[in-house]
Amino acid sequence: MLATSLLLPAHVSAATPVAGAACSKAGLTSSTSTKKFTCIKSGKKLVWDKGTTIVKPAVAQSPKPTPTPTPTATPPVSTPPEVGSPCIEIGAFFDTPNTRYVCNQESGKNVWRVWSPNPTPTQSSTPTPTPTPTPTPTPTPTKAPFKALIPLTLPVAPMGPITFANAASMASSIPAQAWQNIQKEIAAHAPVTVPITIDIGPNTKTTAEQMIPSINREYQLLNGFAVPPTYHGVVFSAFDEKWGEEQAVKVARDLGWTPSNAVPVDGILFNVRNQCGFNNGVAEDCYGGNSLGGILAKDGFSTYGVQSGGGFDAWTIQNQYAGPMTQVTHELTHNMQFAQFTGVAMKPGEFTRSDQFHHSSPCWFHEGQANAIGIPVFQPTLNDYLNARDGNIQRAINPGTTVSLTDFSAAGITAFLVGQDPLTCSNPSKNQDYQLGYSVGYAATEALIAIGGAQATIALIAKGAEGNTWDQAFQAVYGISWAEGANYLGQILAAEYAVKPIKKS
Ligand SMILES: [Zn+2]
Repeated sequence: MLATSLLLPAHVSAATPVAGAACSKAGLTSSTSTKKFTCIKSGKKLVWDKGTTIVKPAVAQSPKPTPTPTPTATPPVSTPPEVGSPCIEIGAFFDTPNTRYVCNQESGKNVWRVWSPNPTPTQSSTPTPTPTPTPTPTPTPTKAPFKALIPLTLPVAPMGPITFANAASMASSIPAQAWQNIQKEIAAHAPVTVPITIDIGPNTKTTAEQMIPSINREYQLLNGFAVPPTYHGVVFSAFDEKWGEEQAVKVARDLGWTPSNAVPVDGILFNVRNQCGFNNGVAEDCYGGNSLGGILAKDGFSTYGVQSGGGFDAWTIQNQYAGPMTQVTHELTHNMQFAQFTGVAMKPGEFTRSDQFHHSSPCWFHEGQANAIGIPVFQPTLNDYLNARDGNIQRAINPGTTVSLTDFSAAGITAFLVGQDPLTCSNPSKNQDYQLGYSVGYAATEALIAIGGAQATIALIAKGAEGNTWDQAFQAVYGISWAEGANYLGQILAAEYAVKPIKKS
């Protein structure tokens, strides 16, 4: 028994050495979690020493060399673009393991969309797989509903002699009535003074003094609604296009914007560049504008391209009321649209206040209202208004494009107005209809203003911000259903376009 026990191999106990216990070979070491023991010779015996305390480094046992980052030409591609955010190159793809995104052109802008093989059928020999239905989002627990600022008693009463019922028969007096209603509404409200900064390119021929009074007039017009607490403009002709790019990014950053997936720096640059025509990368002429306020937390911000081609400077004092400068308040109106959503939580698929606005109203209203408020606010006389107005209402369809509205009968126009679903009307397959907002949408909104004033049209958005559908908002603001309203508008616009048709492109 004893002998047997003496033959026990020594290393068995080596797993947990104890100071003074026998060990098998001098120099062996063994460790516990706190001590390191060494097998030493003590007299004739081999025993574990007292051990030394192991001091562990705080975190890592040995510092690992930091791997040198391999220089990459492209940024890390782990985060996909946000749907609806601007992109640069039409047709570019961005792939994630589960989703392919495509840079799509829509109404003159390039935006990321989820790519689906359905809209553009490519030689499909195999049946297209049915897309997996998106699971219905679980309803979020009800919070206190958002209450918009609406300084009106709803539904509104007609401001003057024109009503939904008689408007078609009074179609010729709609433009003047709309302009007068707006002047009346401005006069009826106190000024709203906000900080305004206008940055004008060094070679761009216009002045801030030509812009600011009209901006103040529009703030006064909409007194009582949510409005951007500050307003900023970056103004450039083709000579200053590069300057415009840098200044736009700078202003946006100064206002607290940080580049994001939804709006990368490229997105802002794209917005500036798409206001100009280029030849070999150099801007030849600039025009139009972009309202960037929708991407900011709440401030108002627009970039303005100033036409200066062929020696014609569109924004000089002499040309102030010729028409192009109404862009000042057209873009401001977009900022007013977005402002109604300040403080409203985004729904899935929404990343900016501009997305929120676009999802709340049909596409014809987006540009229609920007013209129908922007132009009469900017033009100080009825004559100036009527001159600038007709060119827009009758604006020709862009060359090389087709639109779904070709039948300008009452029924045809009504079908167009009700056919634009807010959630899908910027769909690529229908995007060429977006341009009709500047003409037909303008005429429709102008008629609404001739009946109930400009504030009522902003109330449509404010009701949308409260979570109402377009139909519900229309009913709340005008006291008639949207179906009824669209029927009236079809009759009104048919009467107007019978006299002043859309120009041939
Ligand atoms: Zn616009």
